[in-house]
Amino acid sequence: MFRQTKAVLEKLRHVRSKGPHLSWRQWSTAAAGKKALQYTAGQQMHGFTVKEVVAVPDLFLTAIKLTHDTTGAQYLHAARDDPNNLFSVQFRTTPMDSTGVPHILEHTVLCGSQKYPCRDPFFKMLNRSLSTFMNAFTASDYTMYPFSTQNAKDFQNLLSVYLDAVFFPCLREQDFWQEGWRLENEDPTDASSPLVFKGVVFNEMKGAFSDNERLYAQHLQNKLYPDHTYSVVSGGEPLAIPNLSWEQLKQFHATHYHPSNARLFTYGDLPLEQHLKQIDQEALSKFQRIHPNTQVPSQPHWTSPREEHVTCSPDAMAPDATRQNTLCVSYLLGDITDTFEAFTLSLLSSLMTSGPNAPFYKALIEPKIGTDFSSVVGYDGSTKEASFSIGLQGMAEDDAEKVKNIIHRTIDDIIETGFEDERIEALLHKIEIQMKHQSTNFGLSLASYIASSWNHDGDPVELLQISNSVLKFRQALRENPRFLQDKVQHYFKDNTHRLTLSMSPDDTYLDKQASAEERILQEKISALSDSDKKDIYEKGLQLLDAQSKTQDASCLPALKVSDIAPTIPITPVHMTKADGVPLQLCEQPTNGLVYFRAMCSLNTLPEDLKLYVPLFCSVITKLGSGSMDYRQQAQQMELRTGGMSVSTQVIPDCTHMDMFEQGVLLSSSCLERNLPHMFQLWGDIFNSPRFDDRERLRVLVMMSAQELANGISDSGHVYAMTQAGHLLTPAGELLETFDGMDQVKFMKRIAEMSDLTPVLRTLPRIKKHLLNPKNMRCAINATPQQTSKSVAHLESFMKDVAGNKKHFKAVRPNVVERPLDVRNVSGASRTLVAHPNFQPCHMKTFIQMPFPVNFVGESVRTVPYSHEDYASLCVLGRMMTAKFLHGEIREKGGAYGGGARMGGGGLFSFYSYRDPNSVQTLSAFSKGVNWVKSAKFTQQDIDEAKLSVFSAVDSPVAPSSKGMSVFLSGITDEMKQRHRERLFDVTRENLLDVAERYLSVGNKTCGVSILGPENDVIKRDPSWVVK
Ligand SMILES: [Zn+2]
Repeated sequence: MFRQTKAVLEKLRHVRSKGPHLSWRQWSTAAAGKKALQYTAGQQMHGFTVKEVVAVPDLFLTAIKLTHDTTGAQYLHAARDDPNNLFSVQFRTTPMDSTGVPHILEHTVLCGSQKYPCRDPFFKMLNRSLSTFMNAFTASDYTMYPFSTQNAKDFQNLLSVYLDAVFFPCLREQDFWQEGWRLENEDPTDASSPLVFKGVVFNEMKGAFSDNERLYAQHLQNKLYPDHTYSVVSGGEPLAIPNLSWEQLKQFHATHYHPSNARLFTYGDLPLEQHLKQIDQEALSKFQRIHPNTQVPSQPHWTSPREEHVTCSPDAMAPDATRQNTLCVSYLLGDITDTFEAFTLSLLSSLMTSGPNAPFYKALIEPKIGTDFSSVVGYDGSTKEASFSIGLQGMAEDDAEKVKNIIHRTIDDIIETGFEDERIEALLHKIEIQMKHQSTNFGLSLASYIASSWNHDGDPVELLQISNSVLKFRQALRENPRFLQDKVQHYFKDNTHRLTLSMSPDDTYLDKQASAEERILQEKISALSDSDKKDIYEKGLQLLDAQSKTQDASCLPALKVSDIAPTIPITPVHMTKADGVPLQLCEQPTNGLVYFRAMCSLNTLPEDLKLYVPLFCSVITKLGSGSMDYRQQAQQMELRTGGMSVSTQVIPDCTHMDMFEQGVLLSSSCLERNLPHMFQLWGDIFNSPRFDDRERLRVLVMMSAQELANGISDSGHVYAMTQAGHLLTPAGELLETFDGMDQVKFMKRIAEMSDLTPVLRTLPRIKKHLLNPKNMRCAINATPQQTSKSVAHLESFMKDVAGNKKHFKAVRPNVVERPLDVRNVSGASRTLVAHPNFQPCHMKTFIQMPFPVNFVGESVRTVPYSHEDYASLCVLGRMMTAKFLHGEIREKGGAYGGGARMGGGGLFSFYSYRDPNSVQTLSAFSKGVNWVKSAKFTQQDIDEAKLSVFSAVDSPVAPSSKGMSVFLSGITDEMKQRHRERLFDVTRENLLDVAERYLSVGNKTCGVSILGPENDVIKRDPSWVVK
């Protein structure tokens, strides 16, 4: 994977939502942290020396810094009472060309190692472990290999595989061809077919740079730091990749993947000694110290500002074809290893750019010169010296001068007037909430939070002591009220190292790219002798042969199905009522935060308004309410809550394919002291939302349309699967309306409307139906001490909004009442809609997109969650992915990814991601089904698929999300346990049976969809609907 990192605060924000499985213990007496405090500086353990031991109470952890004695490898352990343990190793990788050498190396070290010589041990371990995360990233100046797991044996297994992969990889020539680049006959079995470029990274980067936002970010970094490693593309410039040789790759490994150039990080509740012992024994003890010379020098400062221009491909989905230009001004800031300065600049950046009260938001977004900020905006601490960027995308070329002037004038204004105290408080409040919020991937968030600064020898422990920085910041403000203004003067006004970069679309861009590729290809080909060509053909056959062989993975360590816990822990929830509205309470160790949710039914909403619901959700908390305009509202939300949002919900029934619940979910969180304020904010939205500000709505509409259009190249496979399933179930149809390409196109149309008055008029109509306490149920997750107070505040909120209670008739005639909790049938219920006469429809859709790669989806109607075949289909999807589809679609087909999975709505889906093939991939899907039916899989294959399913089923759930599956879907712990037992029981016969009955041609009911570039084969084939 190739990663472009964002700002530090951005990273902390990613900690949200996905969230760790916390045991019901008090943090203050956390055993892991306490034990870790007993280490002392100077203590020696397994070849390491302890340098520093620091308690970090804010994050409930103890940090231990060590160095490896012989090699100088650096080590940080964060002991914390969290069972989701993490390991990561990172190397400083500083390429000096754009061949993508660090990225191709990242891929090839995962193709087999001395102790584990089988091909692709990394992907194979996905099925032999209960990992909660496994991946590898190439950033601009480091490469990182992290994994996490809740199982101690699994941790040792994965650690062994990771260490061997990075320190002792095979780096075979064949791996280099497969993962990097190669010349090969288009059809490898046909020596007369034309020679073309192939390779996983080659295709991945072509896909990555088909995203204009990424392309712009890459150019900006290259041009702002033109003198060293940041001037090249670490992921690989597709046309430069073919300059890399296998020899160069091996050389890069020898000099960069060495313990003397490594930083190792462990996190969690497992004991440190065991990690140190294994790491020293299996890897570090086999090396001597070297001097890798990978330091990045400071960028020499320019004496005068620069301007540059680049081009990109036009975006067919952009709201306005004449406004597709991007322009931003980027400033070089200070060294990121200065922790306090970096903290200050990151805060300053948020004050300047985020939310409707920020000066740049007022100056650039509100006049609607562009659709949104440029893809790179604000503080970026992912390079040795940070940068700050500000500008717009979706603007007309003629507005360039205007935008530049506004930027400079806004900087002058900030120096003049500074920031309101309340905004600074709101930002510090946000940091407090982010520290308290418990996420499930906390270790991973920490690893990426410290990675950049540590990479340049900054102090990772200092970075973790966030409240020290907050205190220092408050003091600096007290001592000098112009503290922030002085920084703006220094880093922005007086800074001559600044770059203005504009990007405009060029209709011939893709053609130019294609002909440049063709030229390089022809150069390579014309240099080949006949015997070279014969050699290429033979190597192509060898690679195909190697890819087709069944792999012996027995050298790899593996957990057994018997290592999986037979039962799940029960999450107690308590059902009650608040002023007549059903309320679910779930007591959890939330660190003082209260999480509130409310599900509101859509059943009474007229059909013609449905397309508008996602828009309604995205604006309803942003238009202002009561006596507050949208700015004051945003300010109060930042000051008093951890965020307030509304999202659409399409929840398939777990017993019937043609039944589902439709609604919107309100979510918010706050510190206990802010409960009355949070409910007051919701109350205002219910009682007196403002639907009068047309200008504000226009800004919000433009931003959502732009965001949707930008998201397609990242999530094309999801759009393809959603489209493929949209005629298979009633829920699938609504999902396409809310989250599919239909919605993207609808938002594009709205953004193009010259007058938004008709849209503004629909919002109160929708509000009447959705924000109706009659069709509502609520949930609160909080600590036991906070529960009664939270309920009291919710009750007064419900009384406050009781005037919105209205009785409407359901639009669809068939509604079905279901108990919220099947264990309590007389209690609260949810209302589902049923379509008893629904007829699924087979359809093949092609959506032409301006990408050089395809996203292919096929969905098959099967059975709902509670059906006895559901578990078999889950295991089948995993097994087909690991044992067949991955090889066909990624290894042979050259796509970035592909596979099959069972979805909650009873649709079994196949997909490919960034795929050079289109219809060929559809036949790979069918071949996958035939492969299952040929019964050539083993019991080991089945067991591995089960492990893989369980690692998803047992992935940790954050305290904020506990109890949500029963609240939203009515899936109780007992139903989960039943599903679990069925998963354990899946047999070979079950798999053969479900493959035959549901997925075989003739038996299957399916839909197909492809998003991709112009496609002659499909155009000529009348069975396709081309959109
Ligand atoms: Zn990659």
